[in-house]
Amino acid sequence: MKQNINNHLSIMTILLRKCNLYCDHCSSNSSFKREGFVNTDDILNILEAFAPYAKKKQHLVSGGEPTLHPDLHYVLSASNDLGYKTSVVTNASWIDLDDMGKTERFFYDTFPEDLKITSSFDLEHFKEDPMLLQRLSVLHDLTHNRNKITIDGAYNGVNGIKKIQSYLDETTFDYMLIPMQSMGRATNLVNQNILDNNKLSCPKGDKKGFVITDDGVYYCLRTALTSNPCFKLSDSYDVEEILHALDCFNSSSINSSIVSLYDNLSPQEIIDNYHYPCDLCE
Ligand code: SF4
Repeated sequence: MKQNINNHLSIMTILLRKCNLYCDHCSSNSSFKREGFVNTDDILNILEAFAPYAKKKQHLVSGGEPTLHPDLHYVLSASNDLGYKTSVVTNASWIDLDDMGKTERFFYDTFPEDLKITSSFDLEHFKEDPMLLQRLSVLHDLTHNRNKITIDGAYNGVNGIKKIQSYLDETTFDYMLIPMQSMGRATNLVNQNILDNNKLSCPKGDKKGFVITDDGVYYCLRTALTSNPCFKLSDSYDVEEILHALDCFNSSSINSSIVSLYDNLSPQEIIDNYHYPCDLCE
């Protein structure tokens, strides 16, 4: 087991599915009405237990809107202190454009220094919050360039991406596309020279890791969002159970077929033939 994850470990936490916005395209089906969140002690136990396993480790904290979780600052600081390269996704709605003092206080109380803060800017978010670009500008200034703007290409389509890019071209944001739902459409955008290949990435990275959610632990983000039982590693947050399930998964035929596909295909073949990486995993 150690051998399988001792180079690079990627953990994602879907902290809660409560959100103050209600975007049509929401991949986690979050809403104001959703209750329940991952217990802080469970997250910390898992992070602590896996910290010694990998030299390079990343932890992405997402939601719902993570800033609605009462222990967000604590979780992020502990994650950083344990050596995880930690980042958090926020919809930036906590930025009060009429009260910079309040906004700054919230920012410094919530996000530890040097943390990467990621936000989405797409047409659905824009519909929910017409002041989103202004809020992202404030966030950009507060973070001194450490935030990244991500665009969910699955829902924007070609025209949507062009529109979004025309907004972003007016800013100094550094942005990248994270294909949360359907890499296929994202690769189409590359094939049409609308996006650079290096703007595409899977949030799960090299797939050595797992996703913590409020109903258990899954192998990858997309399957966590669809509660796919085949990719559920554990109902509980028991570290031994997760380790055992990961071990079994890593030696399973599903995983060997994923690995051999990765090993045997060139990046171009993957782009030409697969909706990389989701088709490889499901
Ligand atoms: S802001 Fe994010 S989490 Fe909230 S509804 Fe929109 S897509 Fe979902």
